[in-house]
Order: sequence, then C-alpha cells, then structure tokens
Amino acid sequence: MSEIYDKYETVIGLEVHVQLSTASKAFCGDDARFGGDPNTHISTISLGHPGTLPMLNKKQVEYAVRLGLALGSEINQTNNFDRKNYFYADLPKGYQITQDLRPVCVGGNLTIRTESGEKSIRIHHIHMEEDAGKSIHDMAPRSSWIDLNRAGVPLLEIVTEPDMRSAAEVDAFMTGMRQLVRYLEVSDGNMQEGSMRCDCNVSVRLKGATTYGERCEIKNLNSMRYARQAIKYEVKRQIDLLERGGQVEQQTLNFDPTTGVTSPLRSKEDAHDYRYFPEPDLPPVIVTDDNLAQIQSELPPLPWELEAQFQTEFGLSEYDTKILTEEKATGLYFRALVAHTQHIKAAANLVINKILPYCQEQATPISAYPLSPQKLSAFISLIEDGKVSNTIAYQKLLPALLDSPTQEPLAMAQQLNLIQSADEDFLTQLVAEVIEANPDKVATYRKGKKGLLGFFMGEVMKRSRGKAEPKSTNALLRKMLDS
Ligand code: ADP
Ligand code: MG
Repeated sequence: MSEIYDKYETVIGLEVHVQLSTASKAFCGDDARFGGDPNTHISTISLGHPGTLPMLNKKQVEYAVRLGLALGSEINQTNNFDRKNYFYADLPKGYQITQDLRPVCVGGNLTIRTESGEKSIRIHHIHMEEDAGKSIHDMAPRSSWIDLNRAGVPLLEIVTEPDMRSAAEVDAFMTGMRQLVRYLEVSDGNMQEGSMRCDCNVSVRLKGATTYGERCEIKNLNSMRYARQAIKYEVKRQIDLLERGGQVEQQTLNFDPTTGVTSPLRSKEDAHDYRYFPEPDLPPVIVTDDNLAQIQSELPPLPWELEAQFQTEFGLSEYDTKILTEEKATGLYFRALVAHTQHIKAAANLVINKILPYCQEQATPISAYPLSPQKLSAFISLIEDGKVSNTIAYQKLLPALLDSPTQEPLAMAQQLNLIQSADEDFLTQLVAEVIEANPDKVATYRKGKKGLLGFFMGEVMKRSRGKAEPKSTNALLRKMLDS
C-alpha cells in the first residue's frame, strides 16, 4: 500500500504572514501591540470612518527593506499601495490596504537545514499590507464576537516559490524565518500569538514529473504541529484521489485541528474578485539610495554569518553552534566572551550548561547575566590552569560569584579555600591514607587489576574535598601503588 504513496513527490509553496513589531499601526497611531482589552487599540482611522485619511508608518517600509536585504531580494524603490476589496465583519473599512502589482521586495532566498542537508528556498516576493481584525466564533452559541485591536497592524507577506518537498522542509523554513525576523528585530515571530502564520500551498506529482500538479491552499496555520498534520492529511487525500482516477481541484482549504481534517472553504470558481485598485489616499513611498545604504549598514550580524564564524573560526561543533546562535543576543554575548578568553570550547560549555539555563530560570536576558565577560574569562582560566577542579568550580565557585558578582574569581576561590593543590606533602599524605584504608583493593591492584586506579583517584579526591590536582595525584598514586 505504501508503495503507492512512494511513487509521488510532495510540492509546497508558502505564503507567510509576519506581524511587524512596530509600536503603532501601519496607517495610524493606534497601539499595535498584541493583547489589550478587546476594541481598545482602535480609532476612526483603523475603523475606516468616512473622511479619515491613512498616513504611512515609515517603520513598516524600513522593516520590509531590512528583511529583503537580509534575504538578498531586489528592493523596489518606488512603492505604491492598493486596495483589496471584500466584505467581512472583521474588516470594517471594506478593504485591506496591500501591494498588488509591485511588491517592495522581489526574489532572494533563505537556506534551510534539515536531516538531509542544506537547501536554498527561493523567495518569490515580499509585500507590505495591513492585518484585519479578529472574529471569535467560540464565545457564544449563536453569535460571533469581533475584536478590532489587530485591524491595521502592519504585516509583511512573504511568498515563496514552490521549492519545499516535505513538511520537515516547511518546518525548517518557518524556523529559519522566525530566527531571521527576530535577529532583524522586525517581529517577535511568535506563532502562538499569531505574529507568524502561514498558508500552505500543497500539490503532489509522480516522481520524475517535470510539471507541477494542481494545488490546494490550506489557510492560516498558526502552529508548526498543525501545519505538519494538515500537510500530511492533504498529501494523502490528493494521492488517494489521483489513484482512484480523480483530479485535484484547485481549492482553498481550512484545517480543523480538532479533527485533523482539511475541508473546502471555496473553489477556484467562486474565488474572490477583489477589484484591486490603487489606494488613492497614500502617495508613493520612495526608498532613496541613501535609505538603502543606511539600512544595509545597520543590518545586524545574520544567523548564518554567526554560524559560519562559530564553526570555522571558533571550531565549534554543529550542535554547540546551533544553540549559541539560536538567538542573536546569545550569539553576540558569546562573541564578547570569546574576545576575553582563549578557551573557546570551555566558554561554549559554560554558556550552554550554566548561563543559558540560569537566564531561562530567572527570566533574564543574557545581556543582563550578572558576571561580566572578564570575570567569566578569569573563572574559565582557573579551571583550565588546574587551579580549581571543574566540578568544584561549577558547584561552588560559580554560585558564590553569582551571589557576589563584584568579587574576583581568584580571590573568591582563595577565600572559599577551593584552590587545588599539587603540593607533594599534601598529596603524599592523602595517597598514603587511601592505601592504608584499602588493603584488599591495593592487593588486587598489585595483582594486575589496573582499572582500580579510578577508584583510588576518587578516594583521594574525596579526602581532599576536590582540592587534589588530578594530574599530580594520578602520577603519585601510580608511583606509590607500584612501589
Ligand atoms: P496566485 O497568484 O494564484 O496566488 P501564486 O503563483 O502566487 O498563485 O502562488 C501562490 C503560492 O502557491 C506560492 O507560495 C507558490 O509557491 C505556491 N504554488 C504555486 N504553484 C504550486 C504548486 N503546483 N504546488 C504547490 N505550491 C504551489
Ligand atoms: Mg497569492
């Protein structure tokens, strides 16, 4: 049975909506932030009262250009807006302001990484538009509620070429796009709050075919789990249909997460006629060469730039790199730390195993971690120079430093008596004690069971409270056991 499905290839193109994190809305000063009591972030302009005029939020254009430059798109320097007309209760104006024919960004691509390697997904275009309000259908049995706080919030719509071949690639694209918009600080990329959602265009074709199959568009998926479920269901539905001799009809579909099933919203025949026409109330927006140069020069380091640096220059593993570059703040913090220490791998371990969990627990941004890069570098050196054991440093010294962040690590280690000792008298005394306390084990060792050395090391460490310097201890133990 599954051979039937193996004959087919899945083809997916996305339309991703990204809500921009501007303070105010796209065409008026209303608060654009998520939340607030229903219908409080509104005004006569976002409600489209007659006689009101929109005024463009410059940030929307700047953010669009920032994203386009990061993706390698061509930037359209003369931007017009269009009206897309339709009637819906959550669209009080009766039209949405969008860009129909000349989007702000054209082309570009985003490289994604899945288990099967890297792949470049081409961007068809990115255009600016405004969001509609929200209809809430599950609050009362016979009525719908409308919240217009979201009406007029600025959006970018990113349209890809049909370059994805699996739900895993869709997942990787959405993850990569979320990371990028967060690096660029144009959106929080929060899917739960609807700041990022996607329409998935799905078709199937026989492997080796050179033309695409007919596609269906699944609307408004606001979680990756739903997107994966919806794609899986839709691919099976289309293949079953084709195998029965049927044909896929171009449709817009809705996905119901409670049933896991897609169902038609509308077919091609009753597709909307939006009667696009140029928005008469907004003059063209010109992005000058100077604007472009300025935005380009202010671009932050991009995720793939940090990844390349961490792997090639710093020699970190793919795993460490992924964690350290997931968020821009972490990547920049790590770079600052590496500027102060030669022990890069030790620094990576410290950030991954201690600093990130601490920040998560305390809900604090990494930039506000109490210990400065200089202090952390001194802390790492104490371990690397064999002055404090790794275990003791992590278990005792670090918590003590967090309690008194102004103290110097070396002074603190001395004060807490944590400095390891390679002093010969000190170590000889300890080793002698351990040999005396374990005559049976010593006999077994001397008969050839050399694996017991680890046991003796452990015993010496215990008696020294972690202060015996391991290398010297090891050498001394061998010497005294073998004599
Ligand atoms: P329209 O103009 O009807 O909206 P587009 O050509 O703009 O159609 O495509 C919209 C989206 O559908 C894009 O993301 C594109 O990649 C995707 N798409 C187009 N054709 C296919 C197909 N055969 N299978 C899957 N996705 C497709
Ligand atoms: Mg389209």
